[in-house]
Amino acid sequence: MRLLLAMMKHETNTFSPIPTDLQRFRDWGLHEGEAVAAAYAGTNHPLGAYLDLAREAGAEVVTPIAAEAMPSGPVQKQAYDTITGRILDALEGGGFDGALLDLHGAMVAEDEPDGEGGLLERMRAIAPELPIAVTCDLHCNLSERMVANSTAIIGYKTYPHIDMYEVGTEVGRILLRALAGEVAPVMVWGDVPLLAQTLRMGTADAPMGPIQALTREAEAGAVLAATLFGGFPLADVPEARVASVVVADGDRAAAETARDRLLEAAWAARADFIYGGEPLAQAIARAKRIEAGPVVLLDHADNVGSGGTEDCMTVIAAVLDQGLSGVAVAAVWDPGAVAELAAAGVGAEVTLNLGGKTDMPSIGETGRPLRLTGRVRALTDGRWTVRGPMYTGSEVSTGPTAVFETGGLKIVVVSKHHEPWDLGIFTSAGIEPQHCHYLLLKSRIHYRAGFAALAKATIACDGTGVTTSDNARLAFERVKRPIFPLDWNQPPEPVK
Ligand SMILES: [Zn+2]
Repeated sequence: MRLLLAMMKHETNTFSPIPTDLQRFRDWGLHEGEAVAAAYAGTNHPLGAYLDLAREAGAEVVTPIAAEAMPSGPVQKQAYDTITGRILDALEGGGFDGALLDLHGAMVAEDEPDGEGGLLERMRAIAPELPIAVTCDLHCNLSERMVANSTAIIGYKTYPHIDMYEVGTEVGRILLRALAGEVAPVMVWGDVPLLAQTLRMGTADAPMGPIQALTREAEAGAVLAATLFGGFPLADVPEARVASVVVADGDRAAAETARDRLLEAAWAARADFIYGGEPLAQAIARAKRIEAGPVVLLDHADNVGSGGTEDCMTVIAAVLDQGLSGVAVAAVWDPGAVAELAAAGVGAEVTLNLGGKTDMPSIGETGRPLRLTGRVRALTDGRWTVRGPMYTGSEVSTGPTAVFETGGLKIVVVSKHHEPWDLGIFTSAGIEPQHCHYLLLKSRIHYRAGFAALAKATIACDGTGVTTSDNARLAFERVKRPIFPLDWNQPPEPVK
């Protein structure tokens, strides 16, 4: 047996000003040929699962490319063409029994708004009969083209995404069983006009936790894999919405029943999928009254893991204003500031303009740095290995990194974008998060992977940024209308 294994992942925030070129994929992870297995074997990725399954099956594997970039703006044409080109070139070589793909589902390229659909359609054009299994992120914006050009799709059922290996194993097994003639996968999908907000999709909470539990309940009898995608609402594309895809063994009706049940549950909970909000100064004041730490201050509007610039200083300024102390911040992206701090050296006092270097035309904001005086506490190369439950075993690099102490804050300043979902962002820089009163994190839900066990409380801080949960700040032009909550003041009648 000969299998094609590949990864192509990017969550595209079409409002983000951060460019997505090939270098951005290299910064997070771009491996080709045999380097793919070296990078992903034994890790908690779908690709890690695919490699294990192929080995168990005694299959020959071809791994043209594995590429993932941190979320940011639309993928530049050259990067998209390069990554898809590697996969298509390998497929052109022929002789494959199946393909196992580790995708995201919310990739928007400059010339291809449905990045995954475009790839799958071209793969099927080359090999019309090729069985293709696909994993997608819970934040997938599912398209007709993706379903029409693959055999079995499954999504992560957790947010933070800690089940990547598990779902990779599940969908990989479906493909191997299909190749052995043991099952005959049929796949159905559907969606509801609901632009759910990722801040309300954490699976430790309602509504998403109970709905994801329904996917597990559905996976019985003929139903092989049931998925409810929350979608990615910061992508102004027609497919941005909640969707479901279900794979069954020959039984289309069973798949449709499961799909309908999932979509009805999501639609019934639509109001709960929308974030309410609180004035920033009030949220910080509330945090200030909490005596037991660590308290997580969530700078969710500048969540780099959803395409934030990671250099908005609004929440940091509010924390300084109210004089909180014992605050560790992860992180501020400012390579120039890191260079300045490194030149000054550990222990030096420095006055500099920190952060605020990036304009955000999509929300009418220009970058606003903070003029701060403080001391350089640490300088590192920004490299560590993830030990927490998400991306376990992966090597991470934030590039040259500094710790800048000012007022009651120790700010980790990085040269490469990174969402703080693992303790390593602090411990690799000499900060012990368990002994901080506050952890100010530019994250949304993924921080829970590494920090939930530590956090005594979490306060959502509504700052500035292109990952805002305030829909009034986002000019949606392409998303399919009508959609809740953009087009209804009151929840509309049930949709079937
Ligand atoms: Zn996601």
